[in-house]
Amino acid sequence: MIEAVDVPFRKAGEDCGVVAVWRRGGAAAELVHRALFALQHRGQEAAGICTFSQQPQGAQKTTDGSGKTSGRLHHLKGRGLVVEALPVHKTKELPGDRAIGHVRYSTVTMDRAENIQPFTAHTPYGQFAVAHNGNLKNQDALAAELEEAGSLLSTSMDTELMVHLLARSKAASFPDALRVASEKMLGAYSLTMLCDGRLYALRDIYGVRPLVLGEHRDGWVVASETCALEAVDARYVREINPGELIEISHEGVRSTQLLPAARPAPCVFELVYFARPNSEVFGQNAHQARLRMGEQLAIEDQAAGMDVLPDIVVPVPDSGFPSAIGYARKSGIPLEQAIIRSHYVGRTFILPDQDSRSHSIRLKLSVIKDAVRGKRVVLMDDSIVRGNTSRLIVQMVRDAGAAEVWMRIASPPLSWPCYLGIDTPDREELVINRHVDVDGVRRAVGADNLRYLSLDGLKNATKRAEFCFGCMTGTYPV
Ligand code: SF4
Repeated sequence: MIEAVDVPFRKAGEDCGVVAVWRRGGAAAELVHRALFALQHRGQEAAGICTFSQQPQGAQKTTDGSGKTSGRLHHLKGRGLVVEALPVHKTKELPGDRAIGHVRYSTVTMDRAENIQPFTAHTPYGQFAVAHNGNLKNQDALAAELEEAGSLLSTSMDTELMVHLLARSKAASFPDALRVASEKMLGAYSLTMLCDGRLYALRDIYGVRPLVLGEHRDGWVVASETCALEAVDARYVREINPGELIEISHEGVRSTQLLPAARPAPCVFELVYFARPNSEVFGQNAHQARLRMGEQLAIEDQAAGMDVLPDIVVPVPDSGFPSAIGYARKSGIPLEQAIIRSHYVGRTFILPDQDSRSHSIRLKLSVIKDAVRGKRVVLMDDSIVRGNTSRLIVQMVRDAGAAEVWMRIASPPLSWPCYLGIDTPDREELVINRHVDVDGVRRAVGADNLRYLSLDGLKNATKRAEFCFGCMTGTYPV
């Protein structure tokens, strides 16, 4: 473990979801499409699928005389949600019994068409396609090194750097090239790949981002989360281990411990917020972990002693629900769904100024006045980032007639950025760093009182000490 330093970095490979499917009989793209729907929460800016079909179609492996498998990559990519980017009729036209897929989140400035994954390239090991979830912490240094050595970079993706590392490798085989490239890849990566017609998945040595293996009646599925396995009726087999390379073929699944695993450091924020509640993440159900975070907060409130008790617990939709349930159960204070979220306003879009953002939150969220009027309300949320949304919601609840508005946050303060694949703002934008203490944050969001879950409380709730807590502590595994 080393202490964090602020370094500039190419903010490209971020919150994403990846899939790989091997399906006997073909139509792998259709399963990838369904799995990507289930992973939509991991990225809404773009989506893509890449398949491989052998030539002639349906034949056993052939070569084109160069030793490479004779076949073609086919892809479909676009901006927006899966339903917009990957129309069903076009997905059905993608041939092949093996495919990978990706859903992507990016910032506005990085929302460039060439950044949409899967990323494809010709390499000495054959036609290559990759879908990446994670972020290389050393990508600026790596980009400079590659450009110095003559590589021409055409995107702002750290994923492209991996391709250049592979292409420059003198290794005898693709797995060996991956091993060599990974020595320079410092950070988080859960990858699904097609290379020379073979299907692979690889997870970084810390296991920062989740990656799971499932068995389908027609083959095999790899995905960021188990919710994607459920979406395609695949049975969860196990997590892919840190440093493990999986190769899937008609012979089944072959596992190689390609890289020596480091001390595990899965991202605790996957459990706090990012993963879908029905997913099993790092050996535990995300919803149950969030319930326990809420219970821990109630325990910490009780331990601190409260002169008066609140009347109701109100979750901030949707991510505050499980912890609010846990808090209510543990404290005995009634849970009230007093804030309603409209599901028709559309996905969160990045608006240019705070006024427009405030307007969109008011369109999205409504407070039931009769539920909060005259009451002491505990608002429950998973985290506070910049504080602007929290301030608006506190004000909305107050305007609806609440006597007092308390805030409870089911994770410790976020005081450091994430360099490993979650899109968080720079340090100075994080609300906790703009105030001297938690009471300053309380005043900034306008709450009558505010408590965050302690780090020990989070560790208790997640039942495991080995996590990355970097955005909370400034200590990162890489
Ligand atoms: S810094 Fe935070 S968000 Fe990033 S990997 Fe670590 S725990 Fe997860």
